[in-house]
Amino acid sequence: MNILEAIERSGVVGCGGAGFPTHAKLMSGVEYFIVNGVECEPLLRTDRYIMRHFADKIISAIERTGDEIGAVHCIIALKESYSEEIHALRSAADAAKSRVSLHFLRSFYPAGDEQTIVYEVTGRVVPPAGIPLDVGCVVSNVATMLAVYDAISDRPLIHKYLTVSGEVETPTIADAPIGAPLESCLSLAGGASIDDYCVLLGGPMMGRIISKEEFPSMVVTKTMSGMIVLPQKSRLANIQRMSREQMAVRARASCIRCSQCSQLCPRNLLGHPLEPHKIMRSLALCGDLQALPMNDAIVRSAALCCECGICELIACPMDLQPRRVNAALRKMLAEAGIRYKKGDGQRSPHPFRDMRKISTVRAAARTGVYRFQHIRIDRLAEARPKRVILPMSQHIGAPCEPLLRPGDEVKRGQLIASSPQGRLGSCIHASIDGIVEIASGSMTISSDGRRCN
Ligand code: SF4
Ligand code: SF4
Repeated sequence: MNILEAIERSGVVGCGGAGFPTHAKLMSGVEYFIVNGVECEPLLRTDRYIMRHFADKIISAIERTGDEIGAVHCIIALKESYSEEIHALRSAADAAKSRVSLHFLRSFYPAGDEQTIVYEVTGRVVPPAGIPLDVGCVVSNVATMLAVYDAISDRPLIHKYLTVSGEVETPTIADAPIGAPLESCLSLAGGASIDDYCVLLGGPMMGRIISKEEFPSMVVTKTMSGMIVLPQKSRLANIQRMSREQMAVRARASCIRCSQCSQLCPRNLLGHPLEPHKIMRSLALCGDLQALPMNDAIVRSAALCCECGICELIACPMDLQPRRVNAALRKMLAEAGIRYKKGDGQRSPHPFRDMRKISTVRAAARTGVYRFQHIRIDRLAEARPKRVILPMSQHIGAPCEPLLRPGDEVKRGQLIASSPQGRLGSCIHASIDGIVEIASGSMTISSDGRRCN
């Protein structure tokens, strides 16, 4: 079995993003194999922990994967300020006489964005609506490489390292089986240190707010990298609670056409024809998202947005929501079957791009999490739930189909679900020993003998 087959068989998906199946992403014949160790979201510390503690495994996985796909260059991109991680990776690469090299970036957001990292490392611009492969690159991340190391050793992806930070008693890296209740991870950090809280899944810039009431039903998935506890009344929570109608009314009433959102937009700075201020102007004129003409070139450019959040959390002086407007339009464009033509409207990167980068510290300050920004997390704690719930769709592609029946007994690491034959997808393995229950869209494994419902 070659490495790509081992990766597919182990159910490895991109651990730092939307969960694209890794075996399908690693194309042969690329020039650059870039591994993202930037972790640009303020407060997330998972990748840094992994780089410090598993540097030898990461180097080994990159080397072997790079050889398998015939990559000319194998590069880990990380921030120049990550001195301990740089030392660990350099030592591991030297000890293994590895060809894997390091590329250093300034501490800015979103340095870890796939298209930004490609430009920073190679000087090549991924075309609008394109992918790194269009310019000879494949991008993965360090957590995925750790999962690849396990896959090569015939160990499936069944657990995750997660940052648990913010308003908690002891910021912690949780080591949790996939499907574990997020509450069990929060308990490892001593629980929330405030009463009226909500939980941000992911980082402050791109994460999703979960209410205290919704939280008990949430579980660890393959793509999660951390959670941050915040006050219920934080700015981030207030923005995410806003309805589409409120966003439109506010755009109409308050957008001053200053174009700050476009001037700081990282995709615009790369030369993509995305100008959120024009989208907001169109929305202000129409007054309603539904009334916007989907075939209009300005509206279609919303498809180029990576939802980094700079426009609404940092740039806009009026506290408007260009990112959320773009996200809604992207969904509407996809539903209407309107695709952006690859490369359309491509320009050169903006000459002021370097000057307009947003420092990570500023991103932390603007999102209200600055006081947690300098916390170093080296405490690891393991979650051992008696019950896990495994969603059948934790990846891009077709949802998995269960391979077992209710009441079957499974062992940790056993294959329990796979994607339909011939469809893009990824398989799922049991993350604990126990008895299986099947519900619509998920499988539950209980090790305590209790039935689920
Ligand atoms: S979220 Fe805003 S700043 Fe980020 S890519 Fe989209 S439009 Fe640009
Ligand atoms: S930054 Fe805000 S106010 Fe200025 S153009 Fe963009 S949405 Fe309008």
